[in-house]
Amino acid sequence: MLFLISAPSGSGKSTLVNRIRSLVKDLEFSISYTTRAPRGSERDGFEYHYISREQFQKMIEQGQFLEWAKVFGNYYGTAADSLENARINGKDLLLDIDVQGAAQVRDRVLDAVSIFVLPPNPEILATRLRSRSVAEGGGYPGEIDKRLAKAKEEIENYREYSYILVNDALDDAVECLAAIIAAERAKRRNGPVDIEAARIIETAESCRQNNSGARLRPVLAAFGLLDPAHA
Ligand code: 5GP
Repeated sequence: MLFLISAPSGSGKSTLVNRIRSLVKDLEFSISYTTRAPRGSERDGFEYHYISREQFQKMIEQGQFLEWAKVFGNYYGTAADSLENARINGKDLLLDIDVQGAAQVRDRVLDAVSIFVLPPNPEILATRLRSRSVAEGGGYPGEIDKRLAKAKEEIENYREYSYILVNDALDDAVECLAAIIAAERAKRRNGPVDIEAARIIETAESCRQNNSGARLRPVLAAFGLLDPAHA
């Protein structure tokens, strides 16, 4: 199974994904290729494969990407063979990709399960972006504003995703994400459902986009994205 997770930069997605990677069995994580430089303590081959623009271009020409996109002026791409390798290893695969990449993958892998992570409001997002920027030795002036504007743009795509997580409490978001993965796996197995599995399915169902209205509305309103008729 293929799981896609997208979120505006600074939503706490990496922390969430790292917790899930250590918690959920038989789930591989695809390490993307990027032309951006490593940040802080990042290491080549762990967070990303860091390559030059020329190398990236060559990979595009050779058809080596399942998807790729330009994000904040840099290129990011998922190697097609990560999907093939997961399949060979009998594992599910988790991709942490932006909204453009997720749209490309959804077109190619029709049963991919997609999850959108939202920050609770722009103030919390700005605080997270600022502290990350300080921890990484400071960004460039205007970077936070640019990322906030981009976040608003990305959030508008939430309707394309099957599940919505509002990351206001990390433990709750981890529980929901683990439940989504377990529930989708149970659905594919189509076997009997015991009490524990039923509880997990219920948690996952509560994170479905069409059951998320009450949690979504205040977030959309805080980002100025709520149609006044629905406020
Ligand atoms: P960052 O530079 O903060 O690690 O990532 C910036 C954005 O690029 C994030 O939204 C992240 O999900 C996205 N991203 C990371 N890897 C890929 C990838 O392989 N493909 C696409 N389309 N986006 C990616």
